Amino acid sequence: MPVDFIALSNAGVQQLKPYEPGKPIEELERELGITDIVKLASNESPFGPSPRVLSVLKHASESLHRYPDGSGYRLKAALAERLGVRAAQISLGNGSNDILELVARAWLCPGDETVFSQHAFAVYPLVTLACSAKPVAVPAKEFGHDLEAMLAAITERTKIVFIANPNNPTGTWVSAATLDRFLARVPEHVLVVLDEAYFEYVQETAYPSGLSRLPAYPNLIVTRTFSKIYGLSGLRVGYSVSSLDIAEVLNRVRQPFNCNSLALVAAEAALDDLDHLEYCRDLNTSGLAQVAEGLEQLGLSYIPSVGNFIAFDCGREAMPIYEALLREGVIVRPIAAYGLPNHLRVSIGLPEENERFIEALGVVLG
Ligand SMILES: *Cc1c(COP(=O)(O)O)cnc(C)c1O
Repeated sequence: MPVDFIALSNAGVQQLKPYEPGKPIEELERELGITDIVKLASNESPFGPSPRVLSVLKHASESLHRYPDGSGYRLKAALAERLGVRAAQISLGNGSNDILELVARAWLCPGDETVFSQHAFAVYPLVTLACSAKPVAVPAKEFGHDLEAMLAAITERTKIVFIANPNNPTGTWVSAATLDRFLARVPEHVLVVLDEAYFEYVQETAYPSGLSRLPAYPNLIVTRTFSKIYGLSGLRVGYSVSSLDIAEVLNRVRQPFNCNSLALVAAEAALDDLDHLEYCRDLNTSGLAQVAEGLEQLGLSYIPSVGNFIAFDCGREAMPIYEALLREGVIVRPIAAYGLPNHLRVSIGLPEENERFIEALGVVLG
């Protein structure tokens, strides 16, 4: 009998399934033998990074034989200045998913629990189970986080609560008042990870920044990323801001060079280009309206979103519609694994890509 190495993996890992990313363009090209494919499946920025990024990358590529600055000094200094925090409060990650994993690895022991919402980002249960801890998913309210119910789900075993604000894949968000009521009542030894991957897109006045809550809550960890509005998904760079003690723990468990040299300089340059940020935000806002209107005209309902994506209700099992869209050259994202088998998530693209999606959906639905 060959050794069963899956059975030898830790108890949580045995329950895991690999994360399924959005279908890559090249894969669909190979499968269908077509070009001009539109990918609206991974909440990437259709505008790409700031032109400044491309020029610093050329220069930085001359030093690829050197290890990166393992402390991320320059990027942390730039972030600290922009965000009004101390550099020592910042932890850098190979994407913000890296930070989520570091938090889990540093604090979770087998048998501990993490609390998050139904329909929340798939990485929360993933990092929990990888540590053989127990994921506790709390039923959502109108597709969004029910923070009262999440509070009630906290037990003696709870080490971490994950809040995605806004949430992916639903695009729902929690208001400042709701968040503050929650934070004030979470036991002070329970870590609260506030995942703000889409922070820069949100324009609602009642939308809170986690950063302003940090002084009052030493148990709070705010995570953000350069993968979304900054258009650097391929380079993998994200960060957290927290109390100094939490940052110290993350610094202990991270890999010495968990942020690569190109990512460090690219993120610093991207942070500098506020015009590009504003441009992307404004076009995303109009793209959201464009896609929402198109969905309405097709008679489909959708979950109102403040991110760069919209989850819409197909009114029946969504998988065949997803596959038919693929044959039209449009890649969106099935979200059955998030407990939404009748929904598909579409990322906001360039105006012409949004148009192409709406047209293809019209064709597919007949
Ligand atoms: C995209 C996303 C992230 C960020 O992933 P990176 O590792 O930074 O690319 C984190 N949280 C949520 C909810 C996301 O949708």
